[in-house]
Amino acid sequence: MANFSQVIAADDAAPFDFKNTYAGLPERFFVRLNPTPVRSPQLIRLNNGLAKHLGIDPNQLQTMQGVEILSGNRIPAGAEPLAMAYAGHQFGSWVPQLGDGRAILLGEVIGQDGVRRDIQLKGAGRTPFSRMGDGRAVLGPVLREYIVSEAMYSLGVPTTRALAAVTTGEKVMRERPFPGAIFARVAQSHVRVGTFQFFAARKDTEAVRFLADYVIARHFPDTESGSQPYLGLLRAVVSQQAKLVARWQLVGFIHGVMNTDNTSIAGETIDYGPCAFMDSYHPETVYSSIDQTGRYAYSNQPGIAYWNLGCFAQTLLPLFDKDVDMAVSQAEEIIGAYPSLFEKAYLSGLRSKIGLLKENEEDQELAQDLLDRMTKNEADYTLTFRRLCDLVGSRPEADEPVRSLFKNPADFDDWVLRWRKRVAKEEVNDVRRQEAMRGVNPAYIPRNHLVEEAINAAINEEDFSQFDKLITVLSSPYDDQPDFAKYAAPPRPDQVICATYCGT
Ligand code: AMP
Ligand code: MG
Repeated sequence: MANFSQVIAADDAAPFDFKNTYAGLPERFFVRLNPTPVRSPQLIRLNNGLAKHLGIDPNQLQTMQGVEILSGNRIPAGAEPLAMAYAGHQFGSWVPQLGDGRAILLGEVIGQDGVRRDIQLKGAGRTPFSRMGDGRAVLGPVLREYIVSEAMYSLGVPTTRALAAVTTGEKVMRERPFPGAIFARVAQSHVRVGTFQFFAARKDTEAVRFLADYVIARHFPDTESGSQPYLGLLRAVVSQQAKLVARWQLVGFIHGVMNTDNTSIAGETIDYGPCAFMDSYHPETVYSSIDQTGRYAYSNQPGIAYWNLGCFAQTLLPLFDKDVDMAVSQAEEIIGAYPSLFEKAYLSGLRSKIGLLKENEEDQELAQDLLDRMTKNEADYTLTFRRLCDLVGSRPEADEPVRSLFKNPADFDDWVLRWRKRVAKEEVNDVRRQEAMRGVNPAYIPRNHLVEEAINAAINEEDFSQFDKLITVLSSPYDDQPDFAKYAAPPRPDQVICATYCGT
């Protein structure tokens, strides 16, 4: 194991006011250990706003001591560093032991909103769960996670967040040596479907119960008082996942590795690896280089979340009822609600995206017709919906910018005739509808070619200016930012990125 002797001991003036609970669970839930120190940590970026929200003084985190904490070289007072145990289905195959192989939970803080959140260092060194891995993270994926998770937050999609990124001053070997980095991640918790699976697979029902009680108290306190809190837990997790994946679909986000160990019980998007936002719309889009069969393609995401929820439900069966058949039928009833919960959230979002406030039976078909035409015409997903916001309800005077995104603009013309008929049934004027549409159809998403450009400049030239600028632009995705028009543009053909890499 690593030599921890260089770790600087806790001091009193710690920036974090830790209130740890996970460390109070039975010892078989985790392994206690400190991060492995790194040679020469340097702060790349600190999320000042998030730090303040968490009750952390950002100035303190920017000092040398703060950067030592963010790199794992110094253990702040109150931290109880540990690596969490979990298992999971990876691409459908069962792996009985995964666990934090390169992430260390420092502890929990309670933010200004009263919500408890984990502070975790990703890339903090080897742990007993590292298997063949080196416990480290490289700069590219750290920057990617920073950019994309913060963009998701600003888009209004539940997600883990980026508190900071540091470089380590060490090289990490992948296809070639890359600069090492550590990502300080904030999450409502790091409990995953795979955490439940870890104990269920070991027939450790006591641990499953501890974990369920813990998750209910931490994330779903409303279900605690019900007569059947464990059924309530499943119901709550099903509902959160349905809403989360609907949000992904609506912004064109493809997670890329929807394994059960990457499915947060708190309903946040977690573990950004080869994730990507779609440029031109196609339901079968896959970016991840490791997803050879397209298991986690865009259009499969809702169904995969359903599958993952089935795995979760299975772990809870012994808590539902001693009678297995009874437990299964209770679980099935709750899980069975998922498809309609998803459809409801997705359809409601689609309606808003095309500017409809009222509900009408034909709406789903109308929206689907647009998506089909976009597929056929390779229309850019984000830009099409953003330009739809400018349409005038009664006349084609503002049609050109959006129709020109279609290879065959006549395909759009046919659709917009239908749309106008439908919009005539709304009692809202153009200005109000346009405003509402701009609030749900972002102008800016982390486009793959821009993310790639920012990462390459950072890795190859130590130039973080593009990374910084991208984060600034993406923090207001629904506002027009004329100075940054280039960030809203789809890639030119020579800029299109077809594959993303896990880069662990
Ligand atoms: P991921 O695909 O990143 O969700 O990770 C899957 C599993 O591999 C988790 O148990 C990770 O902790 C582990 N893992 C990923 N990268 C590394 C690494 N560089 N060193 C050790 N473990 C890793
Ligand atoms: Mg993971």
